[in-house]
Amino acid sequence: MHNTHPQFIVLLGPPGAGKGTQAERLSGALAIPTISTGEMLRQEGRSGSLLGAQIQTLLDAGHLVSDELIQKVVAQRLAQPDCRQGCILDGFPRTATQARFLDQLLAKMGFGAPIVFDLAIAPEELVARLSLRRQCPLCDRTFQVLPGAIETCPHDGASLVPRPDDAPETIRRRLRIYADHTSEIVRFYQNRGYHRINASQPADHVTSKVLGILGNAPAGTNGLKRPVPASQHLSALSPVAH
Ligand code: AMP
Repeated sequence: MHNTHPQFIVLLGPPGAGKGTQAERLSGALAIPTISTGEMLRQEGRSGSLLGAQIQTLLDAGHLVSDELIQKVVAQRLAQPDCRQGCILDGFPRTATQARFLDQLLAKMGFGAPIVFDLAIAPEELVARLSLRRQCPLCDRTFQVLPGAIETCPHDGASLVPRPDDAPETIRRRLRIYADHTSEIVRFYQNRGYHRINASQPADHVTSKVLGILGNAPAGTNGLKRPVPASQHLSALSPVAH
C-alpha cells in the first residue's frame, strides 16, 4: 500500500534551462528525492568500469546513451524506498520511447502518470548561460559563475571546472538532439499534466510558479510537504541547471 499522494514530477527543457536548479529547490520543498540521469551517468563514467568508459565517451560528445540502458538505470532507481513518495526526474525522459516507458513503469508500480513541467527558454539565452556554467569535480554540483568571481565550490572548496560537454561544438549538438526529440515528447504529454513554464524568469519565480501549480493540482496529486525555502540571493555562485 502506498502512502498518501506520491508525486512524480518530470522536468523537461533544453540543457541550461534550469532543470538542475529547480530539481534541487523542488526536492527541498517537497521532501522527495531528485533523480538526475546525467549525474548518475557522470558518476558511472568516473567509476573506472568498462561501461563507465563507454558512457563517458558518449557524454563528452554530447550524444544520448541508449534508451535501454537509461531505462534500466531509472527503473532500478525508482524501485528504491526513498521514491515511494515520488521523485523529481531531471533529464529523463529525453525521448518519446523513454516517456512511454516511464508511464508503463509508474503504472506497474501502482502510481499515476507524472506531472510535467517544460522549462522553456530562448536559445540565445541558453548559450550565454552554458558558457558561464561550471561544475565541481568532487560533488558534481553545477553553478552559474559571475565573470570575475572566484570559482570554487561553496560545499567542498574544490576549483570549479567547465563541463566537458559544455564546449561550444558539443552544446550545439546537445541542443540539436534536444530539439529533435522535443516535439514528440511534448505531443506525448500534452493535454495531460503538462505545464509550460517561462524559464527566463529568475529561478525563484520559476520555483514559485511550479509549486503554485502543484498546490492547485487535483486532490491526490498534491504532495506539498514543506513551504518553499527562503529565496537564496544571487551571490558569486548560484546553482544552475544541467
Ligand atoms: P544532463 O546532465 O541532463 O545534461 O545530461 C548529460 C548527458 O547525459 C546527456 O547529454 C546525455 O549524454 C546523457 N543523458 C542524461 N539523461 C539521459 C537520458 N534520459 N537518455 C539518454 N542520455 C541521457
